[in-house]
Amino acid sequence: MRDFTLKAYRSLLEAFLQAGYRFLTFEEFLEHPEECKAIVMRHDVDELAWNALKMAQLEHGLGVRATYYFRIVKQSNVPEVIRQVVELGHEVGYHYEDLALAEGDEEKAMASFEKNLAYFRTYYPVRTVCMHGSSTSKYDNRLLWKSHWLPDYGLIGEPYLSVDFNKVYYLTDTGYAWDGEKIAVRDVVKTGFDLSFHTTKQIVDCVGRGQFPDQALILAHTLWTDRPFQWYWLHVREYIRNNIKHFARNNKTVAVVYEKAVNWYWKKKH
Ligand SMILES: [Zn+2]
Repeated sequence: MRDFTLKAYRSLLEAFLQAGYRFLTFEEFLEHPEECKAIVMRHDVDELAWNALKMAQLEHGLGVRATYYFRIVKQSNVPEVIRQVVELGHEVGYHYEDLALAEGDEEKAMASFEKNLAYFRTYYPVRTVCMHGSSTSKYDNRLLWKSHWLPDYGLIGEPYLSVDFNKVYYLTDTGYAWDGEKIAVRDVVKTGFDLSFHTTKQIVDCVGRGQFPDQALILAHTLWTDRPFQWYWLHVREYIRNNIKHFARNNKTVAVVYEKAVNWYWKKKH
């Protein structure tokens, strides 16, 4: 059976529901960290915004609320999608990358951060933000918070800064695998758990056996699809991308060419 389809995603949600877990949005979780069996489903909408809507509808049908982080680039920032995701009862936040876009200019980055945050607040009263990895940029977007304070911007949390991952299990579907951390450059966290999965089915089985941690933050991107052509194309693309990323680590020329290609692909909207 193909993994990372909407069908597989549904089986994952149903496994948690059957095992008595509650799904909380990230803002709810920050306000009620004591909730004993809780899953925060976080979606970074890096691209393919319409796929996010499909996931949001599926979740809604199961009574699940999740958190969607949208980027300012046009591949993510699709007003119709954001509007509908809000209507389905999910939390929306800003997937910021201002420091990378401003090439390290902190003042410029903070000005665009505020402007973009205000923009996303026209859809939803945004209270949490989450950094985009910007893997080819040398700037780590999170560093904005070294000299600024979230509450000054009406924010209560940032997944990379506000969660103790020794207590909350962290899972991400980077590179179409649940154990693809090796290739993720920045979207990694230090964790106190000695537990790892490769396929969605393995997670479902673990939840069924009652061996899955009580609290988890799960990052699922928008590459989950039931459409065979899109599924195959994305798998080939991820495979190539992972290899280039791996190669670029040891080869400067490859790294530079890759960064140029990525920047061209994400041509800024503004
Ligand atoms: Zn991202």
